[in-house]
Amino acid sequence: MNHEVSLHGKTFTELIPAAQIQQRILEIATEINREYAKMKPLFLGVLNGAFLFAADLFKHVNHDCEISFIRVSSYAGTETTGQVKSVIGLNMEIEGRHLIIVEDIVDTGDTMNFLLNELDKHKPASVRIATLVFKPDALRNQLNLDYVGFRVPTDFLVGYGLDYDGLGRNLNSIYVLKP
Ligand code: 5GP
Ligand code: MG
Repeated sequence: MNHEVSLHGKTFTELIPAAQIQQRILEIATEINREYAKMKPLFLGVLNGAFLFAADLFKHVNHDCEISFIRVSSYAGTETTGQVKSVIGLNMEIEGRHLIIVEDIVDTGDTMNFLLNELDKHKPASVRIATLVFKPDALRNQLNLDYVGFRVPTDFLVGYGLDYDGLGRNLNSIYVLKP
């Protein structure tokens, strides 16, 4: 197998092999199956990065469930304070629903923090977070992550949905940028 990949001229080394990713997803799905059996949860996949994780996780859910996809866009605000964010694609009725946010990575946690605040305005019955990857050393928000695939150091990752300037999402393993 290929333990190194090159994208846009940079080299990445395999960090989490495909089989480990699939095994961990199965474990998370098993927990969700136990905890949500009668709740018809609504999975909210965060595009683009989480599309593969959301799909593979969802395939293992063995009771009634729904899925929808949203996107958190950030654009430079006119104020000097910087980023203004918005949630795109939230066109399902989520009031009273049991939500499971499916995210690729929680890094600083800014995105997740923002998303939680936005979802809360629509009065869901409950909200839990499933993230495939978590970088604990980068976290700067108070967040409770319910399902975490892998804890990793604060390095740049690609693969399994994660991109480097558009490339690498199709890789089945997760790779880390070589120093
Ligand atoms: P946060 O708001 O938690 O700082 O960042 C969350 C988003 O940043 C993730 O959903 C992901 O899109 C992006 N991100 C954070 N770390 C990485 C990384 O190592 N590689 C890639 N490709 N994206 C990342
Ligand atoms: Mg993401």
